[in-house]
Amino acid sequence: MDQETSSSSLNGQETFEFQAEIQKLLDILINRLYKNREIFLRELISNAADALHRARIAQLENSEGIIETDIEPAIQISFDEEEGTITVSDNGYGMSHDEVITNLGTIAQSGTLEFLESLNNSSEVGNLIGQFGVGFYSSFIIASEVVVRSRSLKNGTRGVEWRSSGSGKFSVSYIEKENRGTDIILHLKEDAKEFANKYKLESIIKKYSDFVGFPIRIGDEEKPVNRQTPIWHQSADEVTDEEYNEYYRQVSMDFTEPFHRIPLNVDAPIQFRALLFLPNQRNRMMGTSMSQDYGLRLYSKKILVQEKAKDLLPEYLRFVFGVVDSEDLPLNISREVIQVDRSIRRISKVITGKILDELNKLIEEEKEDEIKYLEWWNHFGSFIKEGITQDEKRRKKLLKLLRFPTSKSEDKFISLEKYIEQMPEDQEEIYYLLGENLQALKRSPHLEYYEKLNQEVILFAEPIDSFVMMHVSDYKDKHFKPIDQAEDDAVPPSDKEEGKDEKEDKEDKEKDALLTKMSEILGDKIVDVRYTELLTDSPCRLINPAGMGAFSRVLKYMDEDHLPQKKILEVNKEHPLIIQLNKILEKEPNSPLFNLSIVQLFESQQLAEGILQNPTDMIQRINTFMKEALKK
Ligand code: ADP
Ligand code: MG
Repeated sequence: MDQETSSSSLNGQETFEFQAEIQKLLDILINRLYKNREIFLRELISNAADALHRARIAQLENSEGIIETDIEPAIQISFDEEEGTITVSDNGYGMSHDEVITNLGTIAQSGTLEFLESLNNSSEVGNLIGQFGVGFYSSFIIASEVVVRSRSLKNGTRGVEWRSSGSGKFSVSYIEKENRGTDIILHLKEDAKEFANKYKLESIIKKYSDFVGFPIRIGDEEKPVNRQTPIWHQSADEVTDEEYNEYYRQVSMDFTEPFHRIPLNVDAPIQFRALLFLPNQRNRMMGTSMSQDYGLRLYSKKILVQEKAKDLLPEYLRFVFGVVDSEDLPLNISREVIQVDRSIRRISKVITGKILDELNKLIEEEKEDEIKYLEWWNHFGSFIKEGITQDEKRRKKLLKLLRFPTSKSEDKFISLEKYIEQMPEDQEEIYYLLGENLQALKRSPHLEYYEKLNQEVILFAEPIDSFVMMHVSDYKDKHFKPIDQAEDDAVPPSDKEEGKDEKEDKEDKEKDALLTKMSEILGDKIVDVRYTELLTDSPCRLINPAGMGAFSRVLKYMDEDHLPQKKILEVNKEHPLIIQLNKILEKEPNSPLFNLSIVQLFESQQLAEGILQNPTDMIQRINTFMKEALKK
């Protein structure tokens, strides 16, 4: 080892040089961690807790040869405002002379140089430092000198003192120390004196180390500042609703009660505990796609690793609050590592599935009326829909959660289960219609045919619904079918049975003067014009060419300038308006009012579908109609 070659002895004090990497590390820490200086305390407390834990285990294994076996394991933080010092003490495992030299002079793990490189490129040095076993050195961010006084719990070992100002060297000497354990004394730098303050220390401890499993005391206060047993480590029947809600308030800053809480204690495939909350209401901040401010609190062995770990949940569940704590994670794990870590992915998988299961369970418990769930859906349905578009593996579960209005449900939202349950026996597909708003959808001419057959049509009125429908093709073996879209063969399935002859229809159309005239007037605004039997009350409707519905809407939402998909105009021969137009065409083929009427018919449909480009043109035209009407 390096230090052996460089040690010298003076008054029983030996001087050593740090392993070369450590010096580099210190330089980086000091320069890069300035904004995040407070984490030094998290690191020292985590070391103290480790030492207490190791002492406990050593004692359990064999208490012979161990001193002070009857003490209360604890962490003590003292400070001296005037001197500008902070001392972190524990009565744990301690270190011997040789252990001090190895543990606080070298970096135990290999790959340190790699680590240093990653530090240089990372904005998250704070999360990385503990990962390679270098947490101790973060003391030098705020201290100009660090003194470690330690005594091993092993009978017969002497106390030892380690000192360094973090510039290349450290010294070690024997000391008298009465009690077992370690004191870390930090002589604060001029610009870090603010840390020698009770409230400051207390708030840092609360923030990072509230659930460390040993009491942490500040100054001569009896009462530990940390809570120790986290609420998620208690079994659910030990915790009151009020305590749960209080914790929810802390993590969410939402002062209403949560919609649902999910305490979890999982052993396989990975050990972890979690406490998750689903909010009742959507607040302004929550999960807008702009907000990056989400994520669960991630603890490793009760120590806070990351305040907002985004990788624990898929993005569409960003409204969920709570905490995850795993023994199986390295104590310090960086954000970069979290992203690719296998344990994290496993945890994420379990909790995501669990959240969806719980929602489905709640629904089952609520039975028919679903008052609570529908209220929740109102706030959070769009997240579930987002999930349907993103999470292929859980699409089925998510589809079970989907609620929507239909042509028959009045204003009540129903589920796919219910829709299928209510299907008439001869109905084989799930019918839906995409549109701009519910009012317009309810009056859509597309519905007329299905109303006649007493069949229900799902009305999708939100922009995200088009995205959803691009990703689902069926549910429980039933195919989803948009009712405003041409069949490949242009004949609706239920008409086939009636034995209509397609060819005859086409010939019919070729001869028809009205259709010819209409297609002349509308030109390339439409793909085609033809008669339909599917309308009863409306003179015409616009349908999408086969295969185009949801996709063209999606394009429109993504790009405002995207021109709407050209459609097929379908005309109801039996409608009084059309009959009248036919008459005019016979008598007065060049009537300007005839032309205007055709355009108006077409644009009225566009308006109803929310795809009319220049509504102001229509005003002019309506004025002309009014003038004509008033003349008569
Ligand atoms: P890590 O904790 O990841 O091992 P650190 O740099 O934080 O890395 O600490 C280095 C080593 O110093 C620890 O592994 C431990 O052996 C020793 N050490 C640090 N603090 C204490 C303490 N309070 N009591 C006993 N040993 C300690
Ligand atoms: Mg450590």
